[in-house]
Amino acid sequence: MEINRRQFFKISGASAVGIAFGTLGFDMTPIESYAYSLRIIHAKQTPTICPYCAVGCGILVHTIDGKVVNTEGDPDHPINGGNLCSKGMAVYQLSHNNPNRLTKPLCRRPYADKWEEVSWDVALDKIALHIKKSRDEAFETTNAKGQTVNRTMGIASLGSAALDNEECFLYQKFLRSLGLAYIEHQARI
Ligand code: SF4
Repeated sequence: MEINRRQFFKISGASAVGIAFGTLGFDMTPIESYAYSLRIIHAKQTPTICPYCAVGCGILVHTIDGKVVNTEGDPDHPINGGNLCSKGMAVYQLSHNNPNRLTKPLCRRPYADKWEEVSWDVALDKIALHIKKSRDEAFETTNAKGQTVNRTMGIASLGSAALDNEECFLYQKFLRSLGLAYIEHQARI
């Protein structure tokens, strides 16, 4: 039988491994094996898109009884073919059942060294007050050339990588309606 160089190395490698295991005392007798039962075997699988950057990798989300039990790259997705970067791999942390996720607004008062929990009413009133004040104080109707601009340069927006397309659309509408010009996304920070 004629063998080429590539086949020679494959045969040699397999033989060497067999000899090595035999010499070390491993039992090489074939045994019956069982498939490992995956924890997602009874889970519902939902395809989605990674929210972190514009690459738009596909992710599969597995849920059992409404709780996320696993996230992984979608092998059928044309963009990433199942691969994810480290941020995409950690997207599980965004799941609603992550115990480390904040569920209440936190406030750090002036000169305080601790955060305290406040209600949504208190937090939203405070945020609205600051936004209105900053916007109005810095609002410009025209620029130096006399052109209409209707903008505020006193506020910038940075975020949010965890929003989906529809939320981003609404967020943009909200910011533009306030007159913001400094709008950026923080996915790669
Ligand atoms: S953050 Fe990573 S996994 Fe997510 S879309 Fe971008 S490259 Fe893909």
